Amino acid sequence: MVYITAHPVSDPYELASAIHCTLRGDTNAPLTAMINYVPSAFAALSNMVDNNEYHEQWRTYQSVSLHEMTHALGFNAYLAPYFESVTLERPAIITKNHEFVNSKGKHYKVNKQYIQTPNVLAYVKDHFGCDAMPGAELEDIGGLGTAGNHWKAAVFGEELMLGYSQGYAPITGLTLALLKDTGWYTVHESKDVKPLVFGLKKGCDFALKPCSDTTWGFDGYWEITNSKPGCSATRSGVGLSQVWVYPTVLPTQYQHFEDGTWGAQNGPVFDYCLFNSPEVVDNSGSSYYCLDTSRKPNQYGTNLSSTEMRQYSSTIQS
Ligand SMILES: [Zn+2]
Repeated sequence: MVYITAHPVSDPYELASAIHCTLRGDTNAPLTAMINYVPSAFAALSNMVDNNEYHEQWRTYQSVSLHEMTHALGFNAYLAPYFESVTLERPAIITKNHEFVNSKGKHYKVNKQYIQTPNVLAYVKDHFGCDAMPGAELEDIGGLGTAGNHWKAAVFGEELMLGYSQGYAPITGLTLALLKDTGWYTVHESKDVKPLVFGLKKGCDFALKPCSDTTWGFDGYWEITNSKPGCSATRSGVGLSQVWVYPTVLPTQYQHFEDGTWGAQNGPVFDYCLFNSPEVVDNSGSSYYCLDTSRKPNQYGTNLSSTEMRQYSSTIQS
């Protein structure tokens, strides 16, 4: 049972949140949960007379609901120790310390958290084509509820269970693998499950090392298109790939360029990593996604100014 509420919250970027309320006595599977929709974030919904399922805003609302429901079902770091696939010797989440060198030759250490349950581990090994994957990396940025409770955006790119809303947020085999690993659900094949495209077969360096012109040197990644729109890295839409000069020097681990103030327009959500993402927007603020059949193929401008760019910014908290 899920209780739905609509309370305002203080975080201006929060869209919705979910929390389990009670667990089953035998398996610890969630029995009841609560989903809160932040009223101001859903104001546009009341004006939508034409609920065109391909409209970006409508699709985002649908994704947010599915996202929160997935948290309610058990996609939650607090519940991970109770997954049936977890043993004392092999916990659900592991932390690994990595040492890297940034573009300026500076050594630094970072801790990364990975989900290493069996189906998730098998999925990411196959997805990236990397047997050395320790698991699926969890988000390390964002506030309480975002970090540690979502797939890492800079590694998985486009997926339902990232901590940030997107115009296209497909449910993929990665999230289903986690639901399978809970042991609480049977997962069926469905046409609604989409392939995870970001990083597909890009190897261990792409998935595990910091992004750079060598680790991310693939079509659609690490190419600067500036104001010429082109296919996004995942082919989900029309996008841009730009390097911005930020007002201050970026933190050590995000210095991917010679100049420490340079970073991709994708911003902190994607570790300032450079890839072509659907950020070309029209007058209504909607991005150009390929699955939006209401648009003509050439219906995007070629003289776009920087004011027409935007970052993915809205946060979904758990
Ligand atoms: Zn979430």
